[in-house]
Amino acid sequence: MYKKIEKLLYKVEKPGRYIGNEFNMFRKDLDKVNVRFGFCFPDVYEVGMSHLGMHVLYNIKNEVEDFYCERVFAPWVDMENEMRKEKIELFTLETFTPIKELDMLGFTLQYELSYTNILNMLSLGNIPMLSSDRDETYPIVIAGGICAYNPEPLAEFMDIFVMGEGEEVNIELMNLYKEMKKKNYNKDEFLIEAAKIEGIYVPKLYEVKYKEDGTIEDFFPLISDIPKKINKRIVKNFDKGYYPKQMLVPNVEVVHDRAVIEVFRGCTRGCRFCQAGMVYRPVREKSIETIKEYSRKVVESTGYGEISLASLSTLDYSEIEQLINDLIDENEKDRVGVSLPSLRLDSFSTEVMKKIQKIRKTGLTFAPEAGTQRLRDVINKGISEENIVETLEKIFPLGWSRVKFYFMIGLPTETYEDLDGIMDISNLATYTYSKMPSELKKQRVSVTTSASCFVPKPFTPFQWMAQDTIEEFEKKQKYLRKKINNKKVKFIYHDADTSFLEAVFARGDRKLSKVILKAWEKGAKFDGWNEHFDLNIWMEAFNELSINPEFYAHRERSYDEILPWDFVDVGVSKSYLIREDKNSKVEKKTVDCREGCTNCGVNQDFLGGVC
Ligand code: SF4
Repeated sequence: MYKKIEKLLYKVEKPGRYIGNEFNMFRKDLDKVNVRFGFCFPDVYEVGMSHLGMHVLYNIKNEVEDFYCERVFAPWVDMENEMRKEKIELFTLETFTPIKELDMLGFTLQYELSYTNILNMLSLGNIPMLSSDRDETYPIVIAGGICAYNPEPLAEFMDIFVMGEGEEVNIELMNLYKEMKKKNYNKDEFLIEAAKIEGIYVPKLYEVKYKEDGTIEDFFPLISDIPKKINKRIVKNFDKGYYPKQMLVPNVEVVHDRAVIEVFRGCTRGCRFCQAGMVYRPVREKSIETIKEYSRKVVESTGYGEISLASLSTLDYSEIEQLINDLIDENEKDRVGVSLPSLRLDSFSTEVMKKIQKIRKTGLTFAPEAGTQRLRDVINKGISEENIVETLEKIFPLGWSRVKFYFMIGLPTETYEDLDGIMDISNLATYTYSKMPSELKKQRVSVTTSASCFVPKPFTPFQWMAQDTIEEFEKKQKYLRKKINNKKVKFIYHDADTSFLEAVFARGDRKLSKVILKAWEKGAKFDGWNEHFDLNIWMEAFNELSINPEFYAHRERSYDEILPWDFVDVGVSKSYLIREDKNSKVEKKTVDCREGCTNCGVNQDFLGGVC
């Protein structure tokens, strides 16, 4: 097989994407392997290899002697064309085995716009896309990752969804597969047994009934001994949880080319639009000692010159100053730097900044998300203009001059006054810089203000909200483009078309599987890439199937409507989400749960106590 692939490499961009054989790649004797798993990332190599979750799951499976986890990425269109021409099926990077020959394929769902790539990968592997068309001769197809918290739009394609953190449940699933494979394996029997494992959802074992208006009337299991609600899985003891002893070092430059250590999971801030902040609760930290030990191992095994401390909001780590001091002291002699993926200054410490400044000047970012204090109270974003100015006054004299602001447009209750606030904050940054004594101004100040389009997501207090229409978004973008006329401020904004589609699939139901299939048949793929995205293809697919996408994106739901993802228990209770939505309507803030328990329900459900 490799010989055939090799012949194509000189015809395509970045051949390093397709050759595997990286430093720290697992090699196994296939005669001693009982379960072969393909970890499939529905995007190109560079994006997939930057994903920490892939490294963790790749290693944890491969550390089991008779399991073999191999990687599969979406080939870029040039390679796909060549493969189709030469009839080469999609293959793994470890052994160049056609994916059809593996036992299990696991797709990670990181963004909704990757869904057509999943179908494209299955088609390139000559594997039927619909789960009902795959018998025992095909691999079991699984999906997990943040988008799996609403799995329904992909229900027709997947045999299994994994809800929550995958470290433990993936191994349990593979063990079950191994046992059942020994005894005259039958796919349906395996799926029924799998559905009994906590955190596993087998869509074909559940039925949805709809009302005439298209909303859900009922959702129920078709057999008696599987759960009605699926609990997400978490690693309870995160400090002692699994971390790879070695990490793959990519062949080509990837998006994040450095060793990454996850310092904590979860977030306590409770921003009302943020899905990650809700579904990854509760917060669990690794101890400083554990992080130091991992950093030694990962540097030794990869040779990387930089360690990045990852989490949803790393400056919130409870002993961040101590951690950074220790890591710098330990790594300085080997010239290994420490970085934070982006210095989100919502929780700022001058001492930490001074330390980091010694190593590397990463860009500074603030995420006020909304332009006025009123709207920041609505979304529960605990950052004020005073915080920003105070921070900038401390940080500019240390030598920084580039600042990025992240905002969202289309947030609930937004007015044009809130949009003016986006301009005001951007100008405030350039004004604060201009006020500094001239001897401290070493470079020109540059501010980038980015505005994404708000997408209401499942399991957030805004999950019932209507999204702005594409026309409303575009009107607001035009307004801001005109308003932000400060030459030192660069204004960038996200495409409204893709945000609309993201909103449809984020809160979609099973009926949307047909739309994804139809759009793929019409040529949709790499929808997350501007040069490939074409909304017309999608609108044609919706029209041909008489499915109205506005029903999903632009409709406000009532609290008593059964939502497609209601059968998933992420630990945060629906009553908490309703309370938070009501608080947003009266602009009432909720404290960070590190300052006091806000009764979201997660610790009672998952750690057996209160915060
Ligand atoms: S700080 Fe807010 S936006 Fe950031 S992860 Fe936490 S809840 Fe989400």
